[in-house]
Amino acid sequence: MSALFGGIEAGGTKVVCAVGDGSGNIQSRTQFPTTQPEETIQRAIDYFHREQEQHGELAAIGIGSFGPVDVDPQSPTFGYVTTTPKPGWQDVPFLGLVQDALDLPVGFDTDVNAAALGEARWGAAQKLTDFIYLTVGTGIGGGALVNGDLLHGMIHPEMGHMLIPHDKAADPFEGTCPYHGDCLEGLAAGPALEARWAQDPKTLPGDHPAWELEARYLSLGLANLIMTLSPQRIVMGGGVMKQKQLFPLVRARTIEALNGYVEAPQILEDIEAYIVLPGLGSNAGVLGAIALGIRAHRSDFSAGD
Ligand code: ZN
Repeated sequence: MSALFGGIEAGGTKVVCAVGDGSGNIQSRTQFPTTQPEETIQRAIDYFHREQEQHGELAAIGIGSFGPVDVDPQSPTFGYVTTTPKPGWQDVPFLGLVQDALDLPVGFDTDVNAAALGEARWGAAQKLTDFIYLTVGTGIGGGALVNGDLLHGMIHPEMGHMLIPHDKAADPFEGTCPYHGDCLEGLAAGPALEARWAQDPKTLPGDHPAWELEARYLSLGLANLIMTLSPQRIVMGGGVMKQKQLFPLVRARTIEALNGYVEAPQILEDIEAYIVLPGLGSNAGVLGAIALGIRAHRSDFSAGD
C-alpha cells in the first residue's frame, strides 16, 4: 500500500483537512470554520488521529496557512502565524502544535504557495518552472514558482497588496485595505466588491459594470506580475474567479495593459491557455498542503540518512 499524507489548508474563514496518497488522490476530506487557534488546530489534530486509527500511520503532513506566517526554516519562529489581523492568531506556533501532537514530519508554507505547489504537481501548471497562482476571494494572495522552486524571499510575497493605478474619477471607492486603502486587494477582493456595489457580488448579474471594473484592476495586477516575474502561466482561483465571465475580460484587459511590449506567443497567440482556472478546482489548496507533506517526508528521509 502506498504511503498516505495529510494536508491542512488553513484559510481565514475555513480550514480544509484531507488525507491523500502520493499521486494526489484524496481519500478523505473534512472542513470546519476557522475559530480560535487552540480549538481550530485541535480539530485538525483530532481528524488526523481518527484517520490514522482507521487507515494506519501517515507519512507526513503539510500545512498551507493564511498569514502572514514565518516560512524561514532557520528562524526561531518558523511555522508561526505572525502579525495577522485575525483575532487570537498572532504569534501562534501552528507547525509546532501539529508536530508535537502527531509526531510526524510537517511541511509548512503560505496557503497560496501550497496551492501553487499542488497546481505544479497535479494541476494546471505541470511541467512549468515559473508560474503564479493568484487567488481572488475574501483577500487577494499569490504564490509563485520561480526557477522550479517556491518563492519566499525576505518574508513571502504579498502580491495582493501591490499598488495599482486607481482612477478616482471613474471609481471614487476608497478601497478596503486597512493598510493601504486602494491596493489591489483593497479595490478588487470580494469585500471591496461588496462595499462598492452595496450588494453580495455573487448576486451581481454577469453583465453588471462591476465585472468590467474588476477585470481592469485584476489585469493591472497581472501586468505587473508578468513584467516582474515573467511567469509561463497564471492560474487564478478563489471565490471571485468563480464568476466565469471574468476570465475573457481579464485576458483581454491584460493584453491591453501590456500594450504589445511583452512579445510572448503564450500571451499574443494563446492567452486562453495563459490565464487559466486551477486544474485542481477548489481542492488546489488542500492538495497543495498534501504536496508540502510529501516534500517534508522526502527531506526528513534525506536528513536522517
Ligand atoms: Zn493592502
